[in-house]
Amino acid sequence: MKPVVDLKYCKGCNICIYMCPKKCYSKGVDISPRGYFAAVVSEPQNCYNHKREGKLICELCVLSCPDQAISWHPEGEETK
Ligand code: SF4
Ligand code: SF4
Repeated sequence: MKPVVDLKYCKGCNICIYMCPKKCYSKGVDISPRGYFAAVVSEPQNCYNHKREGKLICELCVLSCPDQAISWHPEGEETK
């Protein structure tokens, strides 16, 4: 599974960047439709849940996002 940031909800606070122990996130460089520099999942292969199905062993980023902007998607699934 891979974490995906929903641009509709992310406000670019960067908490996920500082929380992730595997440095999966980086600061956004493009302005989102909401006008924020939304965080980017730049290194999804570093995630503890990479190639993992079923029970996830880390959800720090999802749980610490104040805007519930991060969700799980199957790897290989196209996301915008
Ligand atoms: S913690 Fe949530 S709102 Fe903040 S940058 Fe990350 S995804 Fe966006
Ligand atoms: S689940 Fe854990 S390792 Fe994976 S991106 Fe989120 S904080 Fe990082």
